[in-house]
Amino acid sequence: MTEAAPKKEQRRKFQAIRGTRDLLPPDTALWNHVEETAHAVFTTFGFGEIRPPVFEATELFARAVGGDTDIVGKEMYTFEDHDFGELSSLASTITYRNPDIQNSHSVSSYVEQIHAFLGAYSEGLAQNKIPRTPDNERALENLRMHATRIPILAGDWTGGIEHAKTRLELQISGVREALRVIQLGDVLSLRPEATASVCRAYIEHNMQQLPQPQKLYYIGPMFRRERPQKGRYRQFYQVGAEVLENVKPDATRDAAKELTKDAITDAEVIQMVMTFFDKLKLPGVQLEINSIGHAADNCRRGYVALLKSELEKVKDKLGADSQRRIETNPFRVLDSKLEHEQPIIATLPKIADHLCDDCKTQYAAVKRELELRGVFYTENWRLVRGLDYYMRTTFEITAQGLGSQNAVCGGGRYDGLVELLGGPPTKGIGFAIGEDRLILSLQEAKDAALAAGKQPPFVYIAWMGANAYAAAVHAAKDLRAAGVRVELPPVEQKFGKALERASKLGAQYALILGDNEVAEGTWTLKTLADGAQQKFTEPHLLDFLKKL
Ligand code: AMP
Repeated sequence: MTEAAPKKEQRRKFQAIRGTRDLLPPDTALWNHVEETAHAVFTTFGFGEIRPPVFEATELFARAVGGDTDIVGKEMYTFEDHDFGELSSLASTITYRNPDIQNSHSVSSYVEQIHAFLGAYSEGLAQNKIPRTPDNERALENLRMHATRIPILAGDWTGGIEHAKTRLELQISGVREALRVIQLGDVLSLRPEATASVCRAYIEHNMQQLPQPQKLYYIGPMFRRERPQKGRYRQFYQVGAEVLENVKPDATRDAAKELTKDAITDAEVIQMVMTFFDKLKLPGVQLEINSIGHAADNCRRGYVALLKSELEKVKDKLGADSQRRIETNPFRVLDSKLEHEQPIIATLPKIADHLCDDCKTQYAAVKRELELRGVFYTENWRLVRGLDYYMRTTFEITAQGLGSQNAVCGGGRYDGLVELLGGPPTKGIGFAIGEDRLILSLQEAKDAALAAGKQPPFVYIAWMGANAYAAAVHAAKDLRAAGVRVELPPVEQKFGKALERASKLGAQYALILGDNEVAEGTWTLKTLADGAQQKFTEPHLLDFLKKL
């Protein structure tokens, strides 16, 4: 007898969450190739790999990425991390209850639950298992107060039942509010980017005491709740690197030397990305660079003030976003992609004309160093970053075949960031490559993808007969040890059938092993594309395949 059909809910088909996707073979071979190339190229530039966790304190990202940015404001996956499952469900039970003033049992059990919550909550606070924040302390006080008042008010109907109900409702909403603000654990977020984590790790592990600069790279998933489209996902992958260098107390003594040194670091970092793209044969790579000066009155701050006053004059002609940015962050207006704003933006003052002498010198040095390294670039004065600690060099790289989401890499210098996160004065420059887009672009250019996703030779062993089977197992072991991909069918097949299956799987060769071959000690290798056959002894066969 068959079992009853499962209920509808049980038959629910699960799908990957919107904005996330499965990376599957054969595509994953290309992903692996990209990542192996990153390991190889970055190692030649003296970078070491760092693997930070994928979640961190929300506060870390708020400070590093900026509380006002879309990333932090709207796009982070944030959750509270605590060990108080029961307390948390008690809080929601209390929140959803509506005690009935005319039913004394209903009121008293409500108050009992609040007391139960208070008991466990105060204990958690006392043991420092629940964070002792001002909000938490205040909520605790308020809850205690409501728990005392509710039974008194519930029994006091002097102004009439309706009046008593209203007073009780006020207390209940007070309870809900207190429970809403209570934080039982740390507020964490899935990382939307990794620079903040790398800086946190630099500080946490006192890396300023290691040889400077520290050159670190990472590869891994990032999470942003963006509107998904081609080249934009909610879980996406970045390949990035950071160079962090402790600022020595005497660094200002030879300012000119420091500027050149930083310019060389910037150029090396850019050269490294370009070498990586070159190795991958990424099509249509274009590098744009800019200098955004530094946060000083005689440099970017002065320029932004001027920009703001110029923007005020054309405010009416700008869209709502740009109008808002005139107040919040005029620099970011330059980012606008709105068609009708382009001619207006083109007439705005350019930062290159307002850089201080040091920033000018440094920018010229970066360009000189790039030229020395044979790295082609174009200048784009509209390449900006919205946060104060970003300074001087910024760059962006675009590639072919990506439509509107054509940026594959963004980078820049951020000398103030480590200090902002509580570390010592530290210089920093880094970049992040969007790996999903990099792969898309390689796949669009089929030749590049083919070259990049090059696979080892693939041999299907067509065996027949008990003696041949033992030889086949042995051959599979040897061939695999030599790096050859081998498919060893678990059942005996007729040769015709075996060859058919070999082609279906995409094998290039079939190794034919019958009892005759085993007795002779010579094996037949058939090239599936043209049907050509060659006879080999085993060592010769290995040599032949290794050479491919
Ligand atoms: P950002 O960290 O925003 O500077 O981004 C660096 C690079 O990561 C971009 O140039 C993109 O290639 C890639 N990237 C950023 N956001 C996404 C996303 N939601 N989906 C795919 N790639 C992204």
